[in-house]
Amino acid sequence: MGDLSENLAGGKAILVVEDDHGVSMGLAYALKQEGWRVTQAATLVEARRQFVAEEPALAIVDIGLPDGSGFDLVREWRRVSPLPILFLTARDMESDKVLGLEIGADDYVTKPFSVRELVARCRALLRRAKAPGAGEATTFRTFDLLVDLEKRKVVRDEESIHLTHTEFEILRHLARRPGRVFSREELIQSIWDVNFFGGAKTIDVHIRNLREKLGPGSDGHGYVETVRGAGYKWRES
Ligand code: CA
Repeated sequence: MGDLSENLAGGKAILVVEDDHGVSMGLAYALKQEGWRVTQAATLVEARRQFVAEEPALAIVDIGLPDGSGFDLVREWRRVSPLPILFLTARDMESDKVLGLEIGADDYVTKPFSVRELVARCRALLRRAKAPGAGEATTFRTFDLLVDLEKRKVVRDEESIHLTHTEFEILRHLARRPGRVFSREELIQSIWDVNFFGGAKTIDVHIRNLREKLGPGSDGHGYVETVRGAGYKWRES
């Protein structure tokens, strides 16, 4: 188990941002048992420093920190990195969970949590992050599609599928993390950044066009799935 888990993190550390010393040490112990390297921070300032110094494989972020909110870290890091982020919330508050996921965290755990469950979730996040496209490779395969990020080309059975810039970006975002649900707002923000006035409906139109161009895969299924009331996701293999 140790070897397998270590490979998932690619030798990189897991960053634990938590000001409760006991919780932080307990977490670090459990993660190290899995064969992962762990680095710890108890403040936003220290977390930012560690983030730059370590380029962690995954971050576990507590919301209530002495010098600010863990949500700020999630927001900042999401802008510059696709690393998996799991946040810890002390309160069983629906609004916290929704906000955390909206600003780009991948998962959350409510305190008090079972360490075993948290470790399992970390493993799942790392496995997902290792999916094609998240690494340095400039091409990746998803089902029967070959995606070339440099040439911005999608090829199936040696035939190019011509996508607009926006369609390609949507595909890239979704396909990079199969199974992860992206809200319309999230897609808009990651593709157009700021100053976008088209509204959420615009995404639906682009998704429809993308689906039409891709058609069903050789297994007869579409690639993009609609998650009612939540957004879109790339089908998991
Ligand atoms: Ca705290």
